[in-house]
Amino acid sequence: MNTADGKNLIGEFHHPSLVIDDVEVLKTLPPPQFNQGFAEIIKHAIIADAEMFEALKVARASGLRRASETHALQSLIKRNIEIKSKIVAKDERDQTGERAILNFGHTIGHAIERAGDYRKFLHGEAVSLGIVAACVISIKKARLSPSERDAILDLLRQFNLPTQLPKVFPRKKIIETLKFDKKFEGGNVRFVVTPRIGSAQLTTNVTMQDIREAIDEL
Ligand SMILES: [Zn+2]
Repeated sequence: MNTADGKNLIGEFHHPSLVIDDVEVLKTLPPPQFNQGFAEIIKHAIIADAEMFEALKVARASGLRRASETHALQSLIKRNIEIKSKIVAKDERDQTGERAILNFGHTIGHAIERAGDYRKFLHGEAVSLGIVAACVISIKKARLSPSERDAILDLLRQFNLPTQLPKVFPRKKIIETLKFDKKFEGGNVRFVVTPRIGSAQLTTNVTMQDIREAIDEL
């Protein structure tokens, strides 16, 4: 866990035995640092656990900081670790592509992070925006329903995560950054989409144009 910049705070926990201590540490973080960790938890819910998505809807970031909610927070983090371990275990050597679904929201998220010179957005905030863009693309390419997209946006907002870029943000810079991404070489883009909450898949039929349009909508 890296508390200095808050990067991957919740998403990268590996050892369930550390959970109790980590929950206490997490609760001492300033709200933006605390909230950004939920971008990864929400991502995990979208790609693999519709039930956790529902559980998150009744939770609130501010509420989860209360002492009475330690168990709720702890079980969310535990479930989050389990989802990740399960996906990684299924694709131990990164061969089936299953593991790649963990990158949901991260292709565009990383580009936004870079375009903001790693100062404008925390990792989780950039991922939140990447998730929104991935949802726009999922509607087009994976038949995600607009109502589920709205539910995802509502949940991100509930944790005070951004769902829109600032008006003045240089969108062009995001595209420029993406062009240097190896995944985009040769035109065959590997992109993670969600057809419905609780499920995700890798697709190769997403074009640079789809991505440009999704960023324009942010
Ligand atoms: Zn991440």
